[in-house]
Amino acid sequence: MRKNIVAGNWKMNLNYSDAQRLMYQLLEYKKNNKTNCEVFIAPPSLYLTMAKDLFENGEIAIFAQDVSEHNSGAFTGEISVDMIHSIGINGSLVSHSERRLYHGETDSNANIKIKNLLNKNLTPIYCNGENLEQRKNGDYLEVVGNQTKTALFTLSAEEIKKVIIAYEPVWAIGTGETATADQAQEVHAFIRDLIASKYGKETADEISILYGGSVKPDNAKEIFSKPDVDGGLIGGAALKIDDFSKIIEGFN
Ligand code: PEP
Repeated sequence: MRKNIVAGNWKMNLNYSDAQRLMYQLLEYKKNNKTNCEVFIAPPSLYLTMAKDLFENGEIAIFAQDVSEHNSGAFTGEISVDMIHSIGINGSLVSHSERRLYHGETDSNANIKIKNLLNKNLTPIYCNGENLEQRKNGDYLEVVGNQTKTALFTLSAEEIKKVIIAYEPVWAIGTGETATADQAQEVHAFIRDLIASKYGKETADEISILYGGSVKPDNAKEIFSKPDVDGGLIGGAALKIDDFSKIIEGFN
């Protein structure tokens, strides 16, 4: 179901006590503030159990940053869908641009991971987006369209409705460079129309599409005000309670 969402991707940041402190601050914030969006965090996998225990009433949904496309076996360093399912995690990011860049992940890998997550009733947050060269060449809609088709178009209508999409132009991630609200809206509307062309408008309208790429307290409200932007996937600004809470308040 389409919802407004602010999701924090902690990436490989924070030691145990810093992570614990930020989780307590988030819990306190959620207790004392009514939010007009759902709040998710994706901490490092080492801290997933701590997060699940702390947010035992589901105040904040907990996501992994990645899952293996394999179910189990000799895949050193990876975590499986079954593992996160067994500790009550809500879902996982899939094909974040850093997984694509440093680990060679493709949309075909994403397709397998998304299906595995859905088979366990977990929520995939599928990330896509063009790089700077593709943006400059004017190829960005074609790139994002092809990514979306490869990763998602083997799903049924019922399945695709359960996927959250995060459009994250690579040139805007961690760079301080943000897409304008209109640039985000253009791509979000394009993705939604593409999904509508295969699955129908009703299905496309059910899907939350988040924007990611240097969202900060001072630009969140404007970006979230666009009709096809249903929230944000936040990296750097998710690591400080003041910034993250102000971004959440972009929906107030
Ligand atoms: C991200 O990692 O998904 C992200 C959007 O990072 P940042 O907000 O730091 O650009």
